[in-house]
Amino acid sequence: MRYILLALLVGVGVTNLANVCTTVYLHRGLSHRAITFSKPTHAVFKILIWLSAGIKVREWVAVHRKHHAHTDTPDDPHSPAISGWKTVQIKNLAMYRKAAHDQVNVDKYAKDLAPTKWDRYLFDYSALGLLLGAALLMLLFGWRVGLLAAFIHVNYYLAGSAAVNAIGHHFGRRPYANSGTNLQWLAFVTAGEGLHNNHHAAPTSAKLAHRWYEIDPGWFVIKPLTWMRLAKVRLSELRLAPSQTPNTPANAA
Ligand SMILES: [Zn+2]
Ligand SMILES: [Zn+2]
Repeated sequence: MRYILLALLVGVGVTNLANVCTTVYLHRGLSHRAITFSKPTHAVFKILIWLSAGIKVREWVAVHRKHHAHTDTPDDPHSPAISGWKTVQIKNLAMYRKAAHDQVNVDKYAKDLAPTKWDRYLFDYSALGLLLGAALLMLLFGWRVGLLAAFIHVNYYLAGSAAVNAIGHHFGRRPYANSGTNLQWLAFVTAGEGLHNNHHAAPTSAKLAHRWYEIDPGWFVIKPLTWMRLAKVRLSELRLAPSQTPNTPANAA
């Protein structure tokens, strides 16, 4: 029984780490350039996202930028308005893969992230990253705990990522005029991504909490990184996209 509890703790811990890498590095950093990173920070994030999610960064960035460029149109890779939120929740991975494997799409939306030598020889092998990640867990915690933790992590990470695209465009508050929604509970389990209405309103802002009562866990990672000069936040102020007017007065502090 104790090994199940330990596996649960390790699995949830790994997902939280992967969620931080996803929101801080892939999303706010590479996709929207709201944060820039020092070279070593960049390398650490890239290794962690490869081991924990097997993601090719240029593919993730391309799919996500396409989502912003075509939100809620037939060209949106994962739109609950077009496909229904349940379909996006269940098929998010398949929808992601379809857009990620479209080379025309990747070339168009991730021009700035052309594959490097490291990508070609190492990071483009997603399955290798995932296998090494699982092997590392088994080495650290024993095969039984490691394997179960990896299983828990994969399910939690996939469900959380799907929820941002599905639930985060369907249920919740919409303080700004866009289809994303704010759900604090979802933000807690996705390192801040659940404040998705705020994000669509101000995509270039590194901080996703716009009001005093909103909590963005990702921001609590970004801040110490900036103190240590490992990362730099591009905009010090909240900058709303031109089309975005608050539906209710917002305190941007
Ligand atoms: Zn969205
Ligand atoms: Zn975004």
